[in-house]
Amino acid sequence: MSDHGSQPNDSTPDKQGAARSLDAHVERYAQRTAGMTASEIRALFAVASRPEVVSLAGGMPNLAALPLDSIAGEVAGLISADGQSALQYGSAHGVPELREQICDIMAMEGINAHPDDVMVTVGSQMALDMVTRIFCDPGDVVLAEGPSYVGALGSFAAYQADVVHVAMDDEGLQPEALRQAISDVSAQGKRVKFLYTIPNFHNPGGVTLAVDRRAEVLEICAQHGILVLEDNPYGLLGFDGQTYPALRSLDPDNVVYLGSFSKTFASGLRVGWVLAPHAVREKLVLAAESATLCPPTLNQMIVSRYLTSHDWQGQIKVFREQYRERRDAMLGALEQHMPEGCSWTRPDGGFYVWLTAPDGVDTKAMLPRAVTQRVAYASGTGFYADRLGSRQMRLSFCYPTPERIREGVRRLANTLTDEMEL
Ligand code: PMP
Repeated sequence: MSDHGSQPNDSTPDKQGAARSLDAHVERYAQRTAGMTASEIRALFAVASRPEVVSLAGGMPNLAALPLDSIAGEVAGLISADGQSALQYGSAHGVPELREQICDIMAMEGINAHPDDVMVTVGSQMALDMVTRIFCDPGDVVLAEGPSYVGALGSFAAYQADVVHVAMDDEGLQPEALRQAISDVSAQGKRVKFLYTIPNFHNPGGVTLAVDRRAEVLEICAQHGILVLEDNPYGLLGFDGQTYPALRSLDPDNVVYLGSFSKTFASGLRVGWVLAPHAVREKLVLAAESATLCPPTLNQMIVSRYLTSHDWQGQIKVFREQYRERRDAMLGALEQHMPEGCSWTRPDGGFYVWLTAPDGVDTKAMLPRAVTQRVAYASGTGFYADRLGSRQMRLSFCYPTPERIREGVRRLANTLTDEMEL
């Protein structure tokens, strides 16, 4: 060690030893970890959360409207009255009372569900993992809209499934593109395991699958023996209070449905569910048992009590109104400020707008310059398994106030205009 400081440098035995042992660990990793890479969105969080930056990047629900004091009282009451159960292990299947309540929620989307076919999960992210775990061997193909939800792509990659994207337009997934994708995959001698789809208020696409396309998509999948994985966390967040018929309601035997309380109540409780044909649900319970033993009992009981004692439908209406105001602020600002050649989707629910910049713009390369102008977004390539999306970006309107959204879009438009002049 030198006289001038006590910090070891890279050539000290300590550092060398640490590097050697890191190499040894890396060498021992299972092959499947090669697909586990940091999402571009996560890498953005640190810069995007600086207060001077307007972040249109993340998808955090806005919880400001929740009645926190009353929820606090309920939680305290729950632990006093029923703490022995609330703090205990439960079944991997989930708390029975909550599963019954979930069936009532499912009825709002036209689904006739039995509590036995519901499994409670740690958010729908866990359900994505469990479903992929039980269906996908390495090299199996999963069809997914292009673009698609980044967390789902992460699960598919973790199980070494190959994702083939299916194009969308303003009416959602295109049935013709679905047929083509299935025939391309089978021409390569590969097997499609399931179609992963977000029919309502797509993340990141901002579009909704047209009602008359739903039966067609289901028919194509049934014809080819392809299961449908319907991910619907935003279904109750239609800005005009509209709900669309769930795919699961149209073909219960061939659809596994994922739901979540993250966007309609509290994402931090991590309570979601999967509704699956009976045999699939049984396998999912076994997979879940080996992963987590059971979902958190306390959190499930909090959700259950909230559903019984609060006007949760009224609360969802408040969320919808808040998000609609933010959507309007974003669309208005895009109209006002965006340079010629940009186009974007116009969501009627959910959290996201998908913007396409003119040819020649690379949204990933532009991001550091946008952050210098104090605005952040999620660049498009993160939403594709095959690195498409370089001209696209996802803009979230869920979290910032309408005023900040307008300011963020103005800054973004300036950045894009500069970029196009380069
Ligand atoms: N699916 C989609 C389409 C999502 O947007 C999200 C969250 N952003 C999830 C699943 C995961 O939600 P959670 O695990 O919080 O239920």
